[in-house]
Amino acid sequence: MKIDPETCTGCEACVPYCPVQAIQIKEGVAVIDDDECVECGVCFRSGACSVDSIQEVPLSWPRVIRAVLSNPLIESPDTRIPGRGTEEVKTNDVTGRIKPGFIGLALEMGRPGTGTSFRDVQKVTRALAGMGVEFEPQNPVTFWITDKKTGKIRDDILNEKSLSAIVECSFPLDKLKAVIKQVQAVAQQIDTVFSVTTCVKVAPDGSLPTDKIFKELGITPYPDSKNNVGLGRPLFQFEEVSS
Ligand code: SF4
Ligand code: SF4
Repeated sequence: MKIDPETCTGCEACVPYCPVQAIQIKEGVAVIDDDECVECGVCFRSGACSVDSIQEVPLSWPRVIRAVLSNPLIESPDTRIPGRGTEEVKTNDVTGRIKPGFIGLALEMGRPGTGTSFRDVQKVTRALAGMGVEFEPQNPVTFWITDKKTGKIRDDILNEKSLSAIVECSFPLDKLKAVIKQVQAVAQQIDTVFSVTTCVKVAPDGSLPTDKIFKELGITPYPDSKNNVGLGRPLFQFEEVSS
């Protein structure tokens, strides 16, 4: 994103729209800090600028990953999914990503309003790789992991940042306690906020197989669900997998 200094009046109308405070007024005109800007497009789409000084500019690699993960209108070239490039486990009832006996984990880094560096994302992918997890293939971050065994991310994006990045993986349910402890440990080493989502099949009696484990860890999860109302693809046949 760029601001045309020839037409900008320095009115400051765009400044509050930037979620990472990358727009500052300097010598009477607005200036975008390229290091901080995550290419989310909010300043442009807001329509705040009455003189059209805010301009979208074509992005090349590796900067384009900022837009892929920060601008909900940009589609990931790897997964062909807009809005941070992943359907997440929310669609598990039709995708069947997480099979019975396994747990899906999504670690969303950087929201709200803080952003995340890819050096921090790599700390998380390295920590999870050390637990032997399987990274979700239909997730752009996974495409950028060059070594799934170590969680190493390609060098040319380590200096990039985004409004958020979702690291997704799955592993057998009996590893949950160890993985959560690993996440708690790496949390001390990263300079951003994050939330953790876990996804499991609900048992026939309505209980969650994770309840006991989280209780032992002293963690109170917030149960949530999304229900397929039959408008999408057919439901995934979990029974065929577990039998
Ligand atoms: S594109 Fe987003 S991050 Fe960049 S200056 Fe505009 S609002 Fe801020
Ligand atoms: S809204 Fe437009 S004119 Fe006002 S400071 Fe921002 S870029 Fe400049």
